[in-house]
Amino acid sequence: MLFRGLLNGVPVTGSLKGTSLSLAEDERFVVSWDLGGRLYSVWRFNHTWRRGLNGEVLYKWYDAGEGHGRVSRGYDDRRRQTLTREQAAPVVDEAARFAARALASMREAPGSWTGQGNPDAWRVFRQRLEACARFDSVAADADAARFAGLYRPVGILPPDQYLSVVLQATEGCSFGSCTFCDLYHDRYRVKTTREFAAHVSGVVEYLGESIALRRRSIFLGAANARAVPMPRLIELLETLRATVPPPVPPLRAFVDAFTGVRKNAADYRALRDLGLGRVYIGLESGHDPLLAFVRKPGTAGEAIETVRAMKAVGLQVGVIVMIGLGGEAFSAAHVEDTAAAINAMGLGEGDLVYFSDLVEVPGTAYPAIARDASVRPLDLSERHAQLSALRSRLSFAGRPPQFARYDIREFVY
Ligand code: SF4
Repeated sequence: MLFRGLLNGVPVTGSLKGTSLSLAEDERFVVSWDLGGRLYSVWRFNHTWRRGLNGEVLYKWYDAGEGHGRVSRGYDDRRRQTLTREQAAPVVDEAARFAARALASMREAPGSWTGQGNPDAWRVFRQRLEACARFDSVAADADAARFAGLYRPVGILPPDQYLSVVLQATEGCSFGSCTFCDLYHDRYRVKTTREFAAHVSGVVEYLGESIALRRRSIFLGAANARAVPMPRLIELLETLRATVPPPVPPLRAFVDAFTGVRKNAADYRALRDLGLGRVYIGLESGHDPLLAFVRKPGTAGEAIETVRAMKAVGLQVGVIVMIGLGGEAFSAAHVEDTAAAINAMGLGEGDLVYFSDLVEVPGTAYPAIARDASVRPLDLSERHAQLSALRSRLSFAGRPPQFARYDIREFVY
């Protein structure tokens, strides 16, 4: 439903969907909230602010042409900054004030608004907007504190899962050895069934109507439930299905949740029957010496075998490859072996291949190890060349999977 009005003579459009609502002021300032009234995003010209449920606000913008209309630039020109609480508060407050100004205008000058033909929709829109107007920085802080009481930090998700409902069956990563990774600081642990049930019902209650925006999938976290044997995994999934109100969205997870304790075809079938639809695998590279260099457990052969086993029972797969890993020293072999590994996985329509640029995170071991080994990092054009070389070597029997870039610095949950 669309609702149009005027704010101080400026046209404003409100939009109410089944998942979210938004207000746009003369198409220059757009704010979106979920149906629970939680701020989701703010957009102004080339500037975007994206708020996560954890209260973090990620600010993205393009350097040149600031404030001069919709200039679309390349992925690599985008700048990003996670705002401090003090920097984020004015953004959250401005969004709340925008909703309050629209409500005031609806009250004071209802004749200037159209879209009231359906009184029920008009009433629902106003009610929802009232919740948005209440979601100022104080309310947002309280909401983030509630979130923190339910969740351990959500380290990372695949980009198509940023709007999933994350349910944490495990904490931390049982590997913790990859030298480029700084995603998990918790000791690895599997929740008891009782703890997991309490977590799931707590999350469902916390999300309330906000769940509508996130109903496309449930992401079973965290990074790695590697040590979870099948009977325990099945118990956890059954708990999930009994606690989430139906219809239960399809389940997603990182592959490490299902390896380690080796799974066979019957196991994957059982997981699929419990709602698992797609699994993501951080292949990083198909070149085993590079995996050993960055201390990533497993081999390309094992990854191929796992993916093929999951594809055989109809699961979809998302494969994540790291661009620039191992710098110049490993580049040629990384390209050859990674392309060969992806080609051997039997991927096709419905599957995904993500190309994620290596981000050298301060405090991780990788930068020093690479420096000690005289591994020269790839610059931007070399990373582009590596990506193109890799893409050019990929071939698929039928319709190909989807390809996308993936920047872990854009992750917000
Ligand atoms: S890259 Fe994945 S497997 Fe490696 S330490 Fe990080 S979360 Fe664990």
